[in-house]
Amino acid sequence: MFKQSVAALALAWIVVLSTPLHAATSMSSAVSSLSQAERNDLLYMREEEKLARDVYLTLYETWPLAVFSNIASSEQSHMDALLKLLRTYRLPDPAAGNAIGEFSSQTLQSLYNTLMDKGRLSAVDALQVGGIIEETDMRDIVAAIEHSDNADIDATYDNLLCGSRNHLRAFARNLESMTGQPYTALVLTQDEVDAILNSPLERCGK
Ligand code: ZN
Ligand code: ZN
Repeated sequence: MFKQSVAALALAWIVVLSTPLHAATSMSSAVSSLSQAERNDLLYMREEEKLARDVYLTLYETWPLAVFSNIASSEQSHMDALLKLLRTYRLPDPAAGNAIGEFSSQTLQSLYNTLMDKGRLSAVDALQVGGIIEETDMRDIVAAIEHSDNADIDATYDNLLCGSRNHLRAFARNLESMTGQPYTALVLTQDEVDAILNSPLERCGK
């Protein structure tokens, strides 16, 4: 405990002492230019994208619908984009060493467990889980964009948001053809969801 706080104090002094020096070079100033909210968002979003990937991969084993495997690979690329930012800003990867369905965030661990319980009930429930994840993801990314004032982080979040809109369109289309009913918003407002569903598929990051 004592040893740890001495080390933390020493580290804090190194950061304090080196900040003015590093501020002169754009690469090194990247670390100090992140706010606590920006850091927390990057760590959380890395695992939230993992949650999406893990749920879709696991649901695909029970409900082998193409939408789950297609979107799981898109979520992998979202995870990769966030890992790249974690490395740029020298943040530890909260997903490192975690198996499918394992999360460092307790919030995401319990969300995963709840969503998997629902997703196992029926194919309709499983597709609704997809809708819940995409709508939640969009809500959280929009909040993260509001906290962020770094262009590289914003560009990645914009790309993730675009992906989520396409994913929601795909889950909604699958649900509508399975149930014959229009898609009902699960996290966002119905107006927000309708605006997305009534606009065409996008080419994200192009
Ligand atoms: Zn995603
Ligand atoms: Zn998605």
